[in-house]
Amino acid sequence: MIDDVLSLCSKLIKCKSVTPKDDGAIDCVADYLSAAGFETNVLNFMSPDGKNRVKNLFARYGTSDKKILGFLGHSDVVPAGEMWKVEPFDAVLKDGYLYGRGVCDMKGGIAAFCCAASEFIMQNGDNFDGSIVILITGDEEIGTEQGIRALIDWCKEYGKLPYDCLIGEPSSHEKMGDRVYIGHRGSINIKVKSKGKQGHIAQQGRYVNSLSNLCKYISRMLEYEWKHKDKSFPKTNLEPTMLFTNNYAENVAPEESSANINIRYSSDYNSEDLKKICEQEAKEYNVSLDFNVSGDAYCCDDEKLKSLISSAINEVTGESPEFSCAGGTSDGRYMIKYCNIIEFGLLDANMHQKNERAKVDDLLCLSKIYHAFIKRYFS
Ligand SMILES: [Zn+2]
Repeated sequence: MIDDVLSLCSKLIKCKSVTPKDDGAIDCVADYLSAAGFETNVLNFMSPDGKNRVKNLFARYGTSDKKILGFLGHSDVVPAGEMWKVEPFDAVLKDGYLYGRGVCDMKGGIAAFCCAASEFIMQNGDNFDGSIVILITGDEEIGTEQGIRALIDWCKEYGKLPYDCLIGEPSSHEKMGDRVYIGHRGSINIKVKSKGKQGHIAQQGRYVNSLSNLCKYISRMLEYEWKHKDKSFPKTNLEPTMLFTNNYAENVAPEESSANINIRYSSDYNSEDLKKICEQEAKEYNVSLDFNVSGDAYCCDDEKLKSLISSAINEVTGESPEFSCAGGTSDGRYMIKYCNIIEFGLLDANMHQKNERAKVDDLLCLSKIYHAFIKRYFS
């Protein structure tokens, strides 16, 4: 199995699929799954203005609807950035590691699941009562409109959404199998705009410094006491991420400034609660707010899926995983409305970093765990 996983993962890394580009990644997965007997649908979804086109994949093996196990992944990656010690899209094997942008997040997960599913089909043929559905999206890192959201709409029309879904995002923490995600905190981005009156900073009273008001508002929000009742989630947390001002001289109070802040929030809040809190606090500092909600917090505490993944992990690694609702958001926030989900994958240590890499042994280990999971699911 390892040769298959390495070869498929390397082929995927060599596709420079920085969102929303595809560069052959979806076809690479589709070709592999077709050869394994899957019926594949490569789907291009366009933005309403026609500017953005994203390639996605829906693949299905089996015709029975009794049990439908889904796997959800994304083939797009974040930009490579600079100062790598190897070429980021060359899929270099070095000292027992496979290097490449996206190997952890999450081309390794896709390769491991496709190979595990193919092996399961080789061993069982049609002697299992159910179907395997694989969904791969092309704009998870930025967007989701022409990826998971359009793909779900397409699936609803054709009635092929899975009942249970495994997401292959990196979830392991210190070693393979030590952590499984069953949910994530919500995420909201807020653009804070401050407008004042320009003036010489020596002439207090003649200007209103937009930047001072903005900084005071951010300080106030950084000190806000968030409640933390639902202990299955980490505490709600706010972070400023960007600060802009159009100033051109050191002795001028800037007329306009703005900042971006992000809140990761537990199930103690929903996005409407947060909007109210942020607006209430904004009044005092004369700033205006624009909200962009990525998704509310969710937790899928499905005992069946938890026990299946736990025993699959235990069989391969001896580990008993922790079930967590920490980590970043994933396409799971859209799938949770339609099916049970569980998220398990490679180590999260160097995702989105330079020199992103995964141990070859871990890739094989992941594929074995996925295989054990599929076997249990249909037994
Ligand atoms: Zn990811």
